[in-house]
Amino acid sequence: MNWSRLLVASGLLALICTACAPVQPKRAPEPTANVLQHRGQLCTDAASFVRSVRVLKDPYDPAMLEEPPLDDAAVLTPEQVADLKAAFELAPAYFQTELCGMDRVLLVNSRCADSTADQNPEALPPCYEFSWGFRNPETGRRFIAISAGLWRNGHAPGITDYSTSRLRSLLVALNAGTARFWFDMVDSHKSADSPGMTVLAELAHEVGHVRWYDWTVSTAHPIQEAARYDFARLRECGTNRFYFYNGWGSPIQPASHDVPDSAFGAPRFLVFAATADETKVVHDQPPQISAFRRNRPDEATSATQPPLYRSRKPTKELAQNLAQLYDRTHVWSSLLGSLHPEHDLVETYVLGVLTYRGKQNSSSASYLRSLRLNIAFPDNKIARVDVVDDYLHQRKPGLSEKIECLTSLSLRDMGSQQR
Ligand SMILES: [Zn+2]
Repeated sequence: MNWSRLLVASGLLALICTACAPVQPKRAPEPTANVLQHRGQLCTDAASFVRSVRVLKDPYDPAMLEEPPLDDAAVLTPEQVADLKAAFELAPAYFQTELCGMDRVLLVNSRCADSTADQNPEALPPCYEFSWGFRNPETGRRFIAISAGLWRNGHAPGITDYSTSRLRSLLVALNAGTARFWFDMVDSHKSADSPGMTVLAELAHEVGHVRWYDWTVSTAHPIQEAARYDFARLRECGTNRFYFYNGWGSPIQPASHDVPDSAFGAPRFLVFAATADETKVVHDQPPQISAFRRNRPDEATSATQPPLYRSRKPTKELAQNLAQLYDRTHVWSSLLGSLHPEHDLVETYVLGVLTYRGKQNSSSASYLRSLRLNIAFPDNKIARVDVVDDYLHQRKPGLSEKIECLTSLSLRDMGSQQR
């Protein structure tokens, strides 16, 4: 949801400089190994994790990358306490270690609206704007937050309702058109359709953004210069020394001073629904990113982003593209993960956490086994695609390699921390 913060120096300077003549930025100090390897110590078990979760004090702009202020008077609701505890208990041990290694986990009480709601008379911002994760490039301290909007109806929703609402929010944000769809689970796995699984998915998404920094951003750079990426760890992961970026038709290259126009040219932060620049990165097979974008009437059209859905039957095209993107021949964890290489890693990380069945899992029955997307076509036919079930039954080898890559990195990091 999800703002990934990639501001590499002072956010204040960035805001000032958008409205004034360019100022030569002050060179940020190069982080030391100690900064890059910094780990917090929030908790050791579910009870201490829940006690450590705090409420953010408004106002706060995470783009500043500063220590988030705490609302000392705020207390968590009983539903929040129960759902956070359930999320921790569902998580594999490696994720519990990574969560407890944050410097703070926060809830954000800012008023927000479900972006798919028909009515929003107060013009409240969508709730996904209040979930984020970042690493301070100078101190190495790492923070995640999730919007308390998740608990607007008491407990958090189960993961099927949450996934339906989230995909709908994404399509609204992309202005992709409309299609009728819903998530459910096959057979008898409904016990996994719980608030705890939803909260675990939210936490894992934001921790995933932090891990992306840990694994790929080796040093910080002054503002307005490319962050210095190092993809070495993503190139040597998994049992086959596999390169993570499977599924992209163009090489996913880290930006550098030598290649400033490569795929990762210093994004400040990655907002929910951000799409990669398709003049630089494309999928290796359709549907492309542009198949899910439709320019709003007030946006100028460009040659690189054609308004694909201005045909008479947008619903059928969107349904076809969704069914194709989630089918067994594709390597994506989700539509969101296919829109940008950073979200590819983050969403793959989430799927790895939710479906983990290894010895590190606290309960062998607790992992997610199915998350089926049902897509209704205008002729009332229903297409059914289930990324989780396909992955767990070895029907998505390309995605399996990606998940194995990130899980092996997580397990290796956990091992080195416990030594
Ligand atoms: Zn995100």
